[in-house]
Amino acid sequence: MTIAFESAADPLAPAGDDSVRPFVVEVLDVRGRAIQMGPALDAILSRHDYPAHVSRLLAEAIVLTVLLGSSLKIDGRFTLQTETDGAVDMLVVDYRSGGAIRAYARYNGERLAAAVASGSVAPGELLGRGTLAMTVDQGANTSRYQGVVPLEGDSLEEVAHTYFRQSEQIPTHVRLAVAEMQTREHGGLRHSWRAGGLIVQFLPESQDRMRQPDLPGGDAPQGAEDMLEEADEDDAWVEARSLAATIGDDELTDPAVPVETLLFRLFNERGVRVFHSIEVRDQCSCSREKVAGVLASFSADEIRQSTEEGEISVTCEFCGTRYGFDPATFPGAPTASEQA
Ligand SMILES: [Zn+2]
Repeated sequence: MTIAFESAADPLAPAGDDSVRPFVVEVLDVRGRAIQMGPALDAILSRHDYPAHVSRLLAEAIVLTVLLGSSLKIDGRFTLQTETDGAVDMLVVDYRSGGAIRAYARYNGERLAAAVASGSVAPGELLGRGTLAMTVDQGANTSRYQGVVPLEGDSLEEVAHTYFRQSEQIPTHVRLAVAEMQTREHGGLRHSWRAGGLIVQFLPESQDRMRQPDLPGGDAPQGAEDMLEEADEDDAWVEARSLAATIGDDELTDPAVPVETLLFRLFNERGVRVFHSIEVRDQCSCSREKVAGVLASFSADEIRQSTEEGEISVTCEFCGTRYGFDPATFPGAPTASEQA
């Protein structure tokens, strides 16, 4: 996978939907990436057809995964996964080098309906408490890297901030936004999903300038953190973070405001340079061979339990593709006498 920081792109040519745009603001020692997602995101969410609140959460997780995964100089897979105790108890998103993405969510319909009825639908309320794990997997014979942070009733933006503060010690600001669009098409209305995201990171030459206030203890008085931040943080980072925080959700998802326009609105006084974009696409990595490989390791018991009406049927949770197999073709298949 190549990351295009070597040459600047035409700043005025919009990369369009589903393209990650890397950028730097040299004066502020800031670099980042921005994206607006359209067709690739809509394809994934429309296929799953989850309730709207679940789709929104998964869309945020997809944008966050793309922003983080596209920065890694690896050949492999970056996975973001939440495991929590809320109505939406699992989100899984994969980003593979080259830009292929896939995602799914798991939720409890009754608990979700109860949460909607009581108006408790903020991202943190639907997720509940648990963990968010980010895994980098570069394939067989390489070590996996995994970072895990607690998720305690926060938005995914907040969890990302915690992760970068605790695990990477890089001052980071993330914005994520999701929108449902209704467009006129063939005389009717067509519903589609859009999303946008921005990550800004402070990476000065001198490590000393990256200092951040310690997280306040449990008994810190209200407002203590704000005071610390003003006192301790580098002026350039305070400025960059404040600028990034001014973007509205509607701007981040507006098809009429390409990310290049957005970046110029934010940073043009300081001079922003954009680089070649990285396209992402809706593409699963499942295959008949991979599923068969898993089934080949099943015991006779597992093969028997997986067989229904003489067939083993496996459906990919990411893309919904169904694979059917004859159980007799696997080593673990029960013999005729066992079946009796
Ligand atoms: Zn699949």
